[in-house]
Amino acid sequence: MSDLQEILERSSSWHKHLCPRQVLGARIGLAGAAALGLELPRKDKRLLVFTETDGCFTSGVEAATGCSVRHRTLRVVDYGKTGATFVDVKTETAVRLTLQLDIRQKACAYAPEERKHYYAQLIGYQRMPISELLTIQPVRLSTPVSQIVSRAGVRVNCAICGEEIINEREVLRNGQLICQACAAPTYYEPEELLFALGETAVSFTLPSMTAKPR
Ligand SMILES: [Zn+2]
Ligand SMILES: [Zn+2]
Repeated sequence: MSDLQEILERSSSWHKHLCPRQVLGARIGLAGAAALGLELPRKDKRLLVFTETDGCFTSGVEAATGCSVRHRTLRVVDYGKTGATFVDVKTETAVRLTLQLDIRQKACAYAPEERKHYYAQLIGYQRMPISELLTIQPVRLSTPVSQIVSRAGVRVNCAICGEEIINEREVLRNGQLICQACAAPTYYEPEELLFALGETAVSFTLPSMTAKPR
């Protein structure tokens, strides 16, 4: 059984500070695994976690569960929410945990000795019972776990841009296998390439290095 203080020490060592969001991530991590009846920390891939924001909250979740992006057991779906879904990969049972809406106010009652709100939250979130802190909702994944995890060594090239796609993230469009970037609006827009990368070219200059910001 993981001890909250130990988890917070681990999480804060990655940040050089401890903050209320790390505490919330740690509490959600512990509660999510407990709801599924899974022991922590995990050294296997039995637990898959979707966090709905990045940063300190997710560090708390990672420190509590042992799940991480590098182990492919934690995925960030950036909704900008301090919530997370925990999936038992073996049974596909899933629960989504979110914070109750009034926890900032409630935290003060659990740390009456702290006069500043920040510290009242930092301490109060550690002391509050789960029933006052979280909402736990059973959910069903829209995509089967096997499809999310995919298989090692599977790769195709996009029929439009030619770039390689792993983990079966391609989509079928008009009979062609294409990448998601070619299928939908992307998070980036290509800028004009100033130097094409040829056989001997080893570097190129980014527009921001040569041009003034528009
Ligand atoms: Zn922080
Ligand atoms: Zn493409």
